[in-house]
Amino acid sequence: MAGRITLTMIKPHAIENGNLGNILAKIIEAGFRISGMKLMRLSLKQAQEFYKIHEEHDFYKPLTEFMSNGPIVAAILEKDDAVEDFRKLIGATDPSKADEGTIRRLFGQSTKENAVHGSDSDENAKIEADFFFSLLERY
Ligand code: ADP
Ligand code: MG
Repeated sequence: MAGRITLTMIKPHAIENGNLGNILAKIIEAGFRISGMKLMRLSLKQAQEFYKIHEEHDFYKPLTEFMSNGPIVAAILEKDDAVEDFRKLIGATDPSKADEGTIRRLFGQSTKENAVHGSDSDENAKIEADFFFSLLERY
């Protein structure tokens, strides 16, 4: 059975450009319930830990620097088929290839600065939710 949660981060450029509210509105309109949410700045070490699966890629260093150089909003989103439905809502990694109307198409600037993160599996959604949130921080 598909899981009920996914983990998102609104990325720094999207917050700095004033699109936090617009992105949250899209998420809520699409039927996701926010069961945990926080605004924070990741340390470089935390960004490196979060994206560890990408450490062999060329984009690992610019990505982790970008993600630790400004504010992020992390949130646990709840819905049936949360991982799959959220990936559909955000669109392809490269905003220029994402479908019309998706969050990355609307608010992304480049493959790196693509507005939002979304978990890629139920297993990673749990790992990523636990990375950011204790049980006391979930409702
Ligand atoms: P997704 O976020 O769609 O699951 P990946 O897990 O492959 O994509 O990559 C994680 C993040 O790394 C992307 O969201 C993006 O910010 C960045 N990234 C991925 N590929 C590239 C690339 N070729 N150049 C720059 N940044 C990239
Ligand atoms: Mg991914």
